[in-house]
Amino acid sequence: MKQKKQSDIATLLDYAGSHRRLTFLGLGLSAVSMVCSMVPYLCVWLATRDLIAVAPNWAQAQSVARYGWLAFGAAFGGIALYFLGLMCTHLAAFRTAANIRKRGVAHVMDAPLGWFDANASGLIRGRLDAAAADTETLLAHNLADIVGTIVLFVAMLALLFVFDWRMGCACLLAAVISILTMFAMMGGKNAQIMAEYQAAQDRMTKAGTEYVRGIPVVKIFQQTVYSFKAFQQAIEEYSAKAEHYQADVCRTPQSINLTVTEGAFVFLVPVALFLAPGALAAGDLAGFITNFAFYAVFSAIISTALARIMFASSGIMLASTALGRISTVMDAPELKAPERPKTPQGSRVEFQDVSFTYDGAETPALSHVSFTVEPGQTVALVGPSGGGKTTAASLIPRFWDVSSGAVTVGGVDVRDMDPHALMEQVAFVFQNSRLFKTSILENVRAARPEATREQVLAALMAAQCGDILEKLPKGMDTVIGTEGTYLSGGEQQRVALARAILKDAPIVVLDEATAFADPENEALIQKAFAQLTKGRTVIMIAHRLSTVVGADKILVLDQGRVVEQGTHGELAAASGLYAKMWADYNRAVQWKIISEQ
Ligand code: ADP
Repeated sequence: MKQKKQSDIATLLDYAGSHRRLTFLGLGLSAVSMVCSMVPYLCVWLATRDLIAVAPNWAQAQSVARYGWLAFGAAFGGIALYFLGLMCTHLAAFRTAANIRKRGVAHVMDAPLGWFDANASGLIRGRLDAAAADTETLLAHNLADIVGTIVLFVAMLALLFVFDWRMGCACLLAAVISILTMFAMMGGKNAQIMAEYQAAQDRMTKAGTEYVRGIPVVKIFQQTVYSFKAFQQAIEEYSAKAEHYQADVCRTPQSINLTVTEGAFVFLVPVALFLAPGALAAGDLAGFITNFAFYAVFSAIISTALARIMFASSGIMLASTALGRISTVMDAPELKAPERPKTPQGSRVEFQDVSFTYDGAETPALSHVSFTVEPGQTVALVGPSGGGKTTAASLIPRFWDVSSGAVTVGGVDVRDMDPHALMEQVAFVFQNSRLFKTSILENVRAARPEATREQVLAALMAAQCGDILEKLPKGMDTVIGTEGTYLSGGEQQRVALARAILKDAPIVVLDEATAFADPENEALIQKAFAQLTKGRTVIMIAHRLSTVVGADKILVLDQGRVVEQGTHGELAAASGLYAKMWADYNRAVQWKIISEQ
């Protein structure tokens, strides 16, 4: 456990980069400030000694004022140094958090696109942001406090031997008991309980967010919070864990801890009473009283120091879980760019015995899939839902990399191509094509930043977006989502198609959208599809068989395997899965016509 904590701090210092020096400087200043803060206690001892030595002629104790000033100076200096130290650690902490954010963002830029499906970009940003902020407390405050406390304990140990080790031991006893109680609460097997308690808290937060998202459903169906079983369960589980942790694990040790730290001198008094007769006999009562006065005052700082450790340990835990969350981002798979990229020749796409299994899935989404798409051909992927159509299409632009086999474009394995070159070869339009919150012009131009207004307009017209531009107040300069502009699903799809048309890539991977409610939009989208696919190599995920009849080749995917391939005529005549799907489709169409008559 300790090993892990150390490595967490090392990881954080690694993120600090050159600012790591500032951290060390801050820690050094904090240590010196701690030493300064002990000086007043020494001054108390010195002043007491002098006073007792001259008692009752107090006026003779001339150095007392000097000690007073010294104590004041040291206390003031200590505080100033502490602030200076904190300034350094804060600067380093802020830089570390900034570096974590920067490196995280830089890292996810190299993640395969498919990774973003499972990790929504908002979530990644939130995770990075919150986790980076969580590391600040440790670096800015807790580390300095830990170093300060270590220095304090070392100084305490030294002081034990300087004055009276027996009374020193009495003071230290309180500290030892307190540390033991802390260990009882957080160490050993209780660390596991603590971890479970935190996990339960996490689950409750997540379920709470889900609940808030679902409020419209709750309202519409007149439900109560109790109908959100997951949330209710998470709350109950959390409260059970919290109660167990507080009542069964913490109650006794925490009570002991508070008692001994707040009343450390309780240990001191019996020891002093025990030692007093000896000191009296030895004739050193003055020295004895001086020492006692010192330890009585000194014992008060023990509780402050221990409280700091408590806070520091929670900071360490916070930073540790934050680092865990950061590593989920940093562990995102990296799309490896080849050292010597090869240049594709032409736009032939080939799947060579491709198998692919999603991370964590038990069965492969694709197994031993082989097919070729010749330049200029249109190949349709059809088959039942979950058959592997989307997965197969996603492997071409390297949303994912194959588990075995190879996907080649222009005769080159996509993994051997420069990722940018691959992206230039392939345009893809998937169902959930997102538009940015900017003008239509910029949305389309994202595909080719150097394109002129005229080229963008031509692409928009080819994608049948004329009606959209007409109805918008500022035409293609209208910012989507502002001024009451709203684009329907079909309209968004057409703008996305314009983007793909402008890209002018030789290969198009597209997901034929599921039927849109209005036939007008549907007809326009079909026209835009025709414009996009003209003269290009096309791999199309088809949901309705009406669109695949004219394809050069149809691949039927079922349970990750190619079960049939051929033209519509060939497959409809065979008695396989496609023929059955075709028959079902025709029945549905007839039914639709009859029901509409
Ligand atoms: P289709 O497009 O034909 O409906 P998919 O390619 O989406 O089929 O899915 C093929 C298989 O892979 C299915 O069993 C599906 O559950 C699984 N699958 C799809 N996407 C993921 C993912 N991101 N993670 C894990 N499994 C997935």
